[in-house]
Amino acid sequence: MRCLAPPALILLVTTAVGVGSPQAEVPAPRVALIIDDFGYAYGPTARAFLELDCELTISVLPGEAFSERIAERVRAAGKDLFLHLPMEPLEYPEEDPGPRAIFVGQTDDEVRALVRSALDAFEGLDGVNNHMGSRAMQDERILRIVLDEVGKRDLLFLDSKTVAGRLARRLAGGMGVTCLENDLFWDSGYDGREEILENLDRLAEIARARGHAIGIGHPREATLDALVEKIPEMRRSGIRLVRVRDLLGDPSGGAGSEPSADGARVPAAPDPAMIDPPRAPDAADEGASDE
Ligand SMILES: [Zn+2]
Repeated sequence: MRCLAPPALILLVTTAVGVGSPQAEVPAPRVALIIDDFGYAYGPTARAFLELDCELTISVLPGEAFSERIAERVRAAGKDLFLHLPMEPLEYPEEDPGPRAIFVGQTDDEVRALVRSALDAFEGLDGVNNHMGSRAMQDERILRIVLDEVGKRDLLFLDSKTVAGRLARRLAGGMGVTCLENDLFWDSGYDGREEILENLDRLAEIARARGHAIGIGHPREATLDALVEKIPEMRRSGIRLVRVRDLLGDPSGGAGSEPSADGARVPAAPDPAMIDPPRAPDAADEGASDE
């Protein structure tokens, strides 16, 4: 079941433009939530995210113990499936993006082969977002290859914004590739439900100001608890939860490849401690870990 606003909420955001004139429907502010870093484990928490009665985009790392199984379940659950492409962070080797990561020291052919094999790992992809990548996402040569391969498959690229700047969006615009950007890591660095709830409110504020917002969270229990509590409240307040691809062609002009005048943008957390959460150890068996 989709999270469409019930008729009462649509009425609330419908305004009359003048006495006797036809009513113009104002689109409900939309929030797209991505949960990434899937693949390490497929325990009860991971499963619960896939069962949430809500439009979610699930991003899965390639080549992890449960990657293929999770991707199958995401498609079966009718949620958006993203490839979570591992890329070199500035903090490497302290931060390890994983075994199939893209590094700036690789040749063009090596990078292209890695991107292709990661894209081939899943059927039915809707898009790609970078895992870590605070170094590789600043490298124009690397990004051109990544965006070229993503564009060849008619997928969209979501810049996770693990580093400041808009290089991916700028390059994608010139290459005819659809590129969106993360507005907020809404659960990184937080174990407490309260902070996560406040960040979901921030996403709703961005969406009310700009028409839409995009936020990345992770498959953790506190994140799940916060979502279960906040989703009904967001719906009641007129927010429409959507998949990332539902934002394409956004009439508010914020989504797509062209830079937008989004004064309400709240940048993704610049603090390295808030981004690229440390990679969880591989789960030895199902249910061994929910991280
Ligand atoms: Zn990640």
